[in-house]
Amino acid sequence: MKKLLSICALSFLAMLLVACTSTNESVNAQTCNSGNVLLTADFANGRMDECKSLGNSEYFIKLKPENTPINSSPWYAFKIQAKQATTIKVTMVVKGDKHRYLPKISQDGKTWQPQPYKINGKRLVMNIDASQNPVYISAQEIIDNQYYVDWANTLQNKMNVSYDVLGKSTQGRPIYKIESKGNSKEWLVVLGRQHPPEVTGALALFPFVETLLANNDLANNFRENYNVLVIPNINPDGVFMGNWRHNANGLDLNRDWIKFSQPEIRHVNNYLKSLVAKGEKIKFAIDFHSTGKDIFYTLPVNYGVEAPYFVKHWLGSLDKAMPNFTVIQQPGSKPDQGVAKQYFADNYNVHAITYEVGDETNRENIIIIAKNASTLLMKTMLSNTNHNKE
Ligand SMILES: [Zn+2]
Repeated sequence: MKKLLSICALSFLAMLLVACTSTNESVNAQTCNSGNVLLTADFANGRMDECKSLGNSEYFIKLKPENTPINSSPWYAFKIQAKQATTIKVTMVVKGDKHRYLPKISQDGKTWQPQPYKINGKRLVMNIDASQNPVYISAQEIIDNQYYVDWANTLQNKMNVSYDVLGKSTQGRPIYKIESKGNSKEWLVVLGRQHPPEVTGALALFPFVETLLANNDLANNFRENYNVLVIPNINPDGVFMGNWRHNANGLDLNRDWIKFSQPEIRHVNNYLKSLVAKGEKIKFAIDFHSTGKDIFYTLPVNYGVEAPYFVKHWLGSLDKAMPNFTVIQQPGSKPDQGVAKQYFADNYNVHAITYEVGDETNRENIIIIAKNASTLLMKTMLSNTNHNKE
C-alpha cells in the first residue's frame, strides 16, 4: 500500500497521467520479488496483505482483515514463480487473529491439492517448490467473479434459464441473477457468497442449482410448478478483493437484511418486493455459507411461518437418504440482526435456511450431499404431504 502511494505520488509529481490504482486494486497488489522468486496477489480474489523477503529463500506474509471487528476468516491467495527452480519457505501469520483455512496448492488455479504445512504457534509454515510454472497457494479453491459468469453461461447454453444483471455492487460490479420461470407464481430463492471466503458454500450451490435445473422428469416437473431465482454471488467486490467477510463498505451483508443500507442487499430486496407486488409468492429460500462443519440453520417449527414442518420433513428425508451423513438441523431465530434467513421468515412468512458447509468437508461429499438435498427438496415441495404437523 505504502509503495503504491509513493508510486502514485511520484507519477503525480512527474505529471504523468498514469492511472493510480484504485483502492480495490491496491489491496491485491502486494509483491515480494527477490530477483529470482516472485510472489504476487495481483489477480481477482488474490490476497496477501504484507509480504517480506527475508533472504535465504524465506518469505514472511502477514494477513490483515479489511476492517474490524470481523468474523475470523483470514483469506489468502497468492502466486509463486521462480526464474530458476528452488524451494522456498513461506511463513504466514494473521494480524490479531489465528488461521482458519488450511492451505491448498494448484498449478492451474482450477484443481487443488492440500499444501503441506506446519503450525508453529501463530505461524503457519510451508515449504513450496517454485519454478517458471506458477503455482497458486490459497485458503480455499479460487472461485472468482469470472467463474460465476462462466458457470451461468454454461447453464444458459444448456437450460431454458435467463441470466441478467440484478444490480450493481458498491464498486459497480454486476450482481447476476439466473432465473427459471415456469407456469407458476411461486418462487424458490437461492443465494450465495455473501461472505467471500466461504467457498465450500459455493461448491455446494453449484451442484444444488444444477440439480434444480437438470433436464429430467423430476426437475422439469418442479420447474413447471415453481420458479427458481438464483443469486449466486451477492458480494462481488468482497470476492474480488479477497475480503474476509465484508463488502467494499466494510459491512457484513448478512447483517443488512433489515436496514438495506448496502446496494447489494437493496437490489435483492427490491427485486423480491417487485415480484410480490406482481402477485407472486416467495415460497422458500436457501442461503449458502461455510463454517467449521456441515450444519443447516433452520427456523423453529413454532416460529409462525406457513407449513411449519416443511424444512424438518425435507431435511429428515435427506438424513434418511444418506446413512453415512448426519444431517444437523439447528433451529433458531435472530430477530433484529439482519440475517437473510430471518428476512424471508419475517417478510414473506415462509421458511428459509442457512446451508452451512464445513470448511474442510470432502469436496466430493459436498457435491453428493448438495445433489441429494436438491433432489429431495424438489420432491418435498411437490409432494402433498401435510407440513402443518410432524
Ligand atoms: Zn457466512
